Amino acid sequence: MMHYTGRFAPSPTGPLHAGSLVAAMASYLDARAHQGRWLLRIEDIDEPRTVSGAAESIGEALAALGMHPDGEVLWQSQRKSRYEAAFGQLKEDVYPCGCSRKEIADSRTGMASDGAAIYPGTCRHGLAEGKTTRAWRLRLPPPLSEAGVITFEDRWLGRITENLSESTGDFVLKRADGFWAYQLAVVVDDAEQGVTDVVRGADLLGSTARQIYLQRLLQQPTPRYMHVPVVNNDAGEKLSKQTGARPLDLAQPLDALMLAASRLGLTLPPTAGISLASFWEAAITAWARRFI
Ligand code: GLU
Repeated sequence: MMHYTGRFAPSPTGPLHAGSLVAAMASYLDARAHQGRWLLRIEDIDEPRTVSGAAESIGEALAALGMHPDGEVLWQSQRKSRYEAAFGQLKEDVYPCGCSRKEIADSRTGMASDGAAIYPGTCRHGLAEGKTTRAWRLRLPPPLSEAGVITFEDRWLGRITENLSESTGDFVLKRADGFWAYQLAVVVDDAEQGVTDVVRGADLLGSTARQIYLQRLLQQPTPRYMHVPVVNNDAGEKLSKQTGARPLDLAQPLDALMLAASRLGLTLPPTAGISLASFWEAAITAWARRFI
């Protein structure tokens, strides 16, 4: 088997909070329980959403919690030429799209898993007269073709099947504002960093089939996937900066760690709460017993 490589890939839109800590911890525990590498990748490709100083604050929080990444930290904002190269490889499979968000919403094809509207394919056969290129999309196989049906075994959720023609339609690789889409950047980076195992929050489950489809087109290996539960606030919304998540209290790192571990369903001995070292030792053991 290839040497295990995992990663934590936060978007630097704010400090680490109780929800993102659960995803960070799961990826870290799985890597350490496999005696593998754990990489940190800063996903600052969505520059309009990037908050200055957030990446540094995430890095400091991880260090204070005793999670030390291996190797160099990768910053997506510095890798645009790589995304450009991958996009170039897709040639016949991409096409320019002149539709506005409103036009796509008005076509009422329904919502994709990430909340965006499913693309009805309007510009597939060329831009209509008077339209100019806004975004670039990936041409998916026809709806009844098997090639657009992606099945994978999720290590937490079991078998997942998604028919991309129905769930997202031709999706965006280069956005109307000129930035590369998250889906493309993740696939390029996971391949280049040799990631064998993606462990992340279940809020990203709806992106996985698109990523696997892109891996196949780019002739990249498909990692194993594990989507762990997301933390909700009292109103049942995914905890995020927008829904009121507070930065972690790093003066009490063990409190935050013990809570995150319990959210992952790990039962730890009382001694785990005594020092960072004893916490991680107990948590890695508990994770290995349950998932490996
Ligand atoms: N940057 C993404 C996020 O913070 C995660 C990407 C991933 O783990 O694949 O939601």
